[in-house]
Amino acid sequence: MKLHCQIEVINRLHSTLNIRSSGKYLKSTLALIKEPKSEAEYSLLLFSTVNKTGTKYRVKSVKQMFIKFINEGKATIRFEEPPHDLCIKCEHIQLKCFVKLLRSCITGDTKSINLAKLSSVAVTHKESPTKLVIRDRSAFPNKGFPRTLESLTISGLNLCNFRRDILLLKQLVVLDLSNNVIEHIPPEFGNMPNLAELNLANNKLGVKGVIDWRWLLRLQVKNKLKLLDLGGNELKYLPKSIWKLQSLVTLKVDNNLLEHLPNTIGRMNNLRYLTIALNKLTSLPCSMLQLHLDYIDLSNNKLNDRDTEQSKMLKSNPWEMYVNSLVDIAARVVVKQKITYAPNTIPWTLVEYLDDANSCVCGEPVMNKEHYSFKEYQLKYYAHVVVSDENRKGTVSFLCYYCSPKCM
Ligand SMILES: [Zn+2]
Repeated sequence: MKLHCQIEVINRLHSTLNIRSSGKYLKSTLALIKEPKSEAEYSLLLFSTVNKTGTKYRVKSVKQMFIKFINEGKATIRFEEPPHDLCIKCEHIQLKCFVKLLRSCITGDTKSINLAKLSSVAVTHKESPTKLVIRDRSAFPNKGFPRTLESLTISGLNLCNFRRDILLLKQLVVLDLSNNVIEHIPPEFGNMPNLAELNLANNKLGVKGVIDWRWLLRLQVKNKLKLLDLGGNELKYLPKSIWKLQSLVTLKVDNNLLEHLPNTIGRMNNLRYLTIALNKLTSLPCSMLQLHLDYIDLSNNKLNDRDTEQSKMLKSNPWEMYVNSLVDIAARVVVKQKITYAPNTIPWTLVEYLDDANSCVCGEPVMNKEHYSFKEYQLKYYAHVVVSDENRKGTVSFLCYYCSPKCM
């Protein structure tokens, strides 16, 4: 048990030598602990703002307790050795509990001692762990995860469910849950305030077809997450809302079942590393031409198989492209100016509408989906390092939308 209180330490040796005490009460913590090596030996540890290493007093050496003014939140503990008096000021109910527990330790009345209330020396002295790696089920800590964790790895354990106690780790920066069989991520996961790296590679996300992506929409994760590894799952699609991870630098979705990427991917301004190898992609959204990628791996897809397929262009009047509805015009402004929107500020249907925006080859937002065609682009002009299956021309097929006939 710990008591947060104010304490003045009086050295009786000083008073006999006529040295006056300072009379200053210091903000202190008094902890009652059980000695780990001995069955019935207890100690008091005193920490204060000026005594950070702590002083240990053995409970056996308590000579007297003065508790006449305990109802006013005052008590004094006198020790035989060292000849110290600890004058305590504290909230009176806490003080009473503490004195009661201390008395049980002195009398050895262990039946009334709730051992759980005693702080263990280990907890008091040990540095709080910040990193934990679990590759074996027996390695799970008995008392739950230390709240101080900044990096947690639980890998290769065939874990089916996302452990909800992870949600309590507010300091967590790196979470590696790779090589398990997780199918679902709870929405509350998006509230992790400091999470920057999430590794969910080689799990079973998407195995049931529908995935709950709501965690992506939470404010904390949107602003903090820098690395997301979803490689080796069974994803058939990525959500349109993925662009809301505005801090994301690295996105790995290789070795899934993706047939197309969301158009919104072009809105991920900070994305630099993208791996989409080993999927079933036949084209890329032309919004990707707006990204500033350092590295892209798109090998083992079907991006060059489109040679035989004719590009489709609906034969509508190109003048329709110049005349848009008011909603379209407003939406284009919102997307272009990067005005923030969310379901709590505008109706959900409008959020979907805005998330649906495509990007013209020129970079302008396009709401109209009627005018599109497939065009070949050389990706090497758009990313520093391109890993791809070589075809004759070194081109990749892009699904392109157009904001005006000039861009076609
Ligand atoms: Zn355009």
